[in-house]
Amino acid sequence: MINKNEAGWNFDNSYAHLPKSFFTSLNPTPVRSPKLIILNDPLARSLGLNVQALQSDDSVAVFAGNQIPEGAFPLAQAYAGHQFGHFNMLGDGRAHLIGEQITPQGDRFDIQLKGSGRTPYSRGGDGRAALGPMLREYIISEAMHALGIPTTRSLAVVTTGEPVFRETELQGAILTRVAASHMRVATFQYVANWRTVEELRNLADYTINRHYSDIEADENRYLSLLQEMMKRQAALIAKWQHVGFIHGVMNTDNMTISGETIDYGPCAFMDVYDPDTVFSSIDRQGRYAYGNQPYIGGWNLARFAETLLPLLHENEEQAIELAQAAISDYNAIYQSSWLTGMRAKLGIFNEEPDDASLIESLLNMMQKYRADFTNTFRALTFDKLEDTELNGTPEMAEWYELWQARLGRQQESKSSSHQLMRNSNPAVIPRNHRVEEALEAAVKQGDYSVMERLLDVLSRPYEHTTVQEEYCTPPEPSDRPYRTFCGT
Ligand code: AMP
Ligand code: MG
Repeated sequence: MINKNEAGWNFDNSYAHLPKSFFTSLNPTPVRSPKLIILNDPLARSLGLNVQALQSDDSVAVFAGNQIPEGAFPLAQAYAGHQFGHFNMLGDGRAHLIGEQITPQGDRFDIQLKGSGRTPYSRGGDGRAALGPMLREYIISEAMHALGIPTTRSLAVVTTGEPVFRETELQGAILTRVAASHMRVATFQYVANWRTVEELRNLADYTINRHYSDIEADENRYLSLLQEMMKRQAALIAKWQHVGFIHGVMNTDNMTISGETIDYGPCAFMDVYDPDTVFSSIDRQGRYAYGNQPYIGGWNLARFAETLLPLLHENEEQAIELAQAAISDYNAIYQSSWLTGMRAKLGIFNEEPDDASLIESLLNMMQKYRADFTNTFRALTFDKLEDTELNGTPEMAEWYELWQARLGRQQESKSSSHQLMRNSNPAVIPRNHRVEEALEAAVKQGDYSVMERLLDVLSRPYEHTTVQEEYCTPPEPSDRPYRTFCGT
């Protein structure tokens, strides 16, 4: 038998040293008969873990919450945030932070079990998760990572050998999630609303030390925290827009302080370009539609700014002024992040004032002719316009001339432009029908080969080879729109 320390766990527990009111210390609820379904070998290695040892019964028991590895200190975090605009007390209702893995390089990552049992924050929920949604999070978070988008990652999924009851009986599962940290805008909202200013300062200082150490010596480091957080979120949301990712539930509890994408419940990728695209079954107003994501990012950041008021300045009016001035920069910061990435998607290196309108007119055409988002940019990259819905339209002929003229006005060669486009336009994204197909084989037939092939292709999204061809095809048109669900 392999000793569990051979797995390479090397835990520290800095969060557990914060004020006790920030969390509840408790162990996961053990499960009947855990079985390892998938393990992320490259991620495990990068964390300093031993892939072989992680497959032992002892390690699987750790992924299931049945055993607590040496040095771990399991806890559920408290937070309170805005869900669809309404403020609620939340917290880890079905997750346990088991510790912070310190890698051989000295980096710190939260290791969290999701679906690991009830906590004081479960609010009537069963604390559990089903296999399909946990594998879905695994696939999409790993695809996001490969696309170059900051995200929490997935180390392993185990089944529990216990049923979970949703509309039907499903197989229970636990995901091991890896994150820079699990602090959210909602963590600040909880402390700012219900705890003391001293505790708020404690949380902010901890955050700065863990995620924004560059600003530690700034004159007003809390203002710097707000500004830097805005930059990270603007950059993150711009990256989502560049690949057609729709998060689906941008509540303040699902916005991390580190700037990583978190919570892969109802998210999905857009096929046809349409800013009104919504997949989540509960988002009836389209609050979190594709085209609304940048705006909602700003709204959430304003909630974050409110929590920092007591730290920004001792005089409340001046604190509000500082926060407002910072927040009013958000649109410009976002627009600049978005433009930089969109220019790259079109092979443009330098800046011209009309770039935004060149890009907008392409997007407008794509919307009008219901063009596939990913494949349109692929076609432009490889000069295969005949493959797109825009081919032969009068607008496209005119736009193409403008674009070519624009490329002609920069120093860089055609081939550098082409290379930039290859690196900025993925060949494959996790298309909904492909993800569903993989999950169906895994969950219904216990056949994981479809998912493994998909994961392999998604791990190299910018390699434009024939291997990817098969995964580029959009779904057959259907009368029934694709729907996703929260909290499953
Ligand atoms: P989410 O929609 O996944 O962001 O979850 C919102 C809140 O509900 C968080 O506080 C979760 O911990 C909690 N939650 C979601 N599903 C469950 C569940 N099955 N049992 C307990 N809490 C849950
Ligand atoms: Mg959440």
